[in-house]
Amino acid sequence: MTAPSLPWIGTGLTDTGRSRATNQDTFAIDNELGLWVVADGMGGHAGGNIASELAVASIMNHVRSSAQPWPSVSDQLQHATTVLTHAITAGKTAIQERIAVSPELSSMGTTVVLAWLCPLPTPSVAIAHVGDSRAYVIRDKRLVAVTTDHSLVQQLVTEGHMTLEDSLDHPKRNVLVRALGLNFPATPDIALHPLHPHDILLLCTDGLMKMMSDEAILSVILDSKDSPEKACQRLIARANEAGGKDNTTVLLITPRTP
Ligand code: CA
Repeated sequence: MTAPSLPWIGTGLTDTGRSRATNQDTFAIDNELGLWVVADGMGGHAGGNIASELAVASIMNHVRSSAQPWPSVSDQLQHATTVLTHAITAGKTAIQERIAVSPELSSMGTTVVLAWLCPLPTPSVAIAHVGDSRAYVIRDKRLVAVTTDHSLVQQLVTEGHMTLEDSLDHPKRNVLVRALGLNFPATPDIALHPLHPHDILLLCTDGLMKMMSDEAILSVILDSKDSPEKACQRLIARANEAGGKDNTTVLLITPRTP
């Protein structure tokens, strides 16, 4: 017997861009479990690629092995927080174990952002993240970020030491304060967001935000509403037309059409 279709479906695409030699981003989609993950690896040569792949595989495996009927409404956030915290810890452990046998990879690490659909009794999505990959909700023709970057510049903005405008082209804008790796705290932020029937979710790496404004991202998604595949292709194309300075990954989670 096949599982009933979930009301949302994920579609993703990743691209090396026009500046980097390799793509160190990784994404994964499980449309039966309602689990979607994006990770942005860092740390020289092949390391970032290994870190993001290890993290994504560990997280997918952990959540799959923990899958069980969802508990009552009041327990949903607790359940999601427990499972996702352990999943992200499993990702960090996998990276640390790899570094233990390959010390030349000691600087590797990765961000992670994920969405896990909590289908009953009304749809919600648990969003967890570590680092500066983001989740957005598109609702009523507006694009709203539902994650706050774990980056040095975001910390300075939050504390009032820097304006948002100055943070956008700051030389240290890539410096993370949390990540999955050896020398970072990997504590995720986890929150449950109720979904409206027409909501679209976007998970993405910073390669997209570096190249496109929120307005431009929103207009591509709204213009390509009938085809998430086309929307992903157009977002990557626009990021590359604007310079493609980093790897870009986009994962759109859209209402399933009957
Ligand atoms: Ca990146």
